[in-house]
Amino acid sequence: MLELRPNCECCNRDLPPESTEAMICTYECTFCRTCTDAIFKGSCPNCGGELVRRPIRPATRLATHPASTQRILKPHPGCASRP
Ligand SMILES: [Zn+2]
Ligand SMILES: [Zn+2]
Repeated sequence: MLELRPNCECCNRDLPPESTEAMICTYECTFCRTCTDAIFKGSCPNCGGELVRRPIRPATRLATHPASTQRILKPHPGCASRP
């Protein structure tokens, strides 16, 4: 099951489970669409894999399988210059 991490690990913006801006790789490294496009050009900076849009978990399912609340933030080249 996906963790559904709560933030972009590059710019730290919130990515709630219903967000269509969340992008993940096969290991669930999680980024917003802006960082994915502008900084990483669609490839995960951790594993080199493809970043694809994270599927939305239906609200009824979130009740039994809630999203992760553990924020993960990693410095990658290009992230530091962002506000
Ligand atoms: Zn971001
Ligand atoms: Zn990755």
